[in-house]
Amino acid sequence: MSGAGTDSSIGQTVAEIRQHIAKAKENSGLATDGAVTLLGASKAQPAEVIEAAIMAGMTDFGENRVQEAQAKWLTLKQKHPAIRLHLIGPLQSNKVAEAVALFDVIQTVDREKLAVALAEEMGKQGRRLPCFVQVNTGAEPQKAGVSVEEAPELIDRCRVLGLELMGLMCVPPAGQHPAPHFALLAKMAREQGLSQLSMGMSEDYETAVRMGATCVRLGRVLFGERL
Ligand SMILES: *Cc1c(COP(=O)(O)O)cnc(C)c1O
Repeated sequence: MSGAGTDSSIGQTVAEIRQHIAKAKENSGLATDGAVTLLGASKAQPAEVIEAAIMAGMTDFGENRVQEAQAKWLTLKQKHPAIRLHLIGPLQSNKVAEAVALFDVIQTVDREKLAVALAEEMGKQGRRLPCFVQVNTGAEPQKAGVSVEEAPELIDRCRVLGLELMGLMCVPPAGQHPAPHFALLAKMAREQGLSQLSMGMSEDYETAVRMGATCVRLGRVLFGERL
């Protein structure tokens, strides 16, 4: 992993990552239309670092926690209104109102209760946000995400509730080869008629793109190690 050290400009890092993504797409044999969204996973990164990434042309960012996101992004979004902010961490039902007000995409819908609360709150606020269902492809007990078995039912529920369901998201188990997890997620999305796949992080984003990712979520390779 090349990493964005303090001495290399983030602009150069972004350009290199985009080249790697383009090459991975070329080698994938998949249809090459449709851009891959490069999402900056900006947890634990201060506003200055995020602004440098915005200056380098990045338009999509992901945060894991509602409170941390509010602290940084209320101001950042005022200054940069075109940025799309994605929630990529677990969402508790009691934070749904704040999340709907702040975020532009919710990538971590993983249970019916949350889907119901999101639909209700989006109605109330008049904000219809694109959503992803997060799938726990590794069946890890401590990890967020709906099980592979229960995903179809949750997807149906989201549709009935009127959520704008765009695709599926996963975080494969650490220390396992990610490719089978990416393949499973892609297969599930195909079966469900969902076009978007949020998968791939610093260590494995090229693999994810080869397997059809439409959004890769990059932290360390973009910003350097988290402090
Ligand atoms: C932190 C995080 C990432 C980015 O991880 P890196 O390994 O730093 O690229 C991506 N997705 C989620 C859900 C994360 O929490």
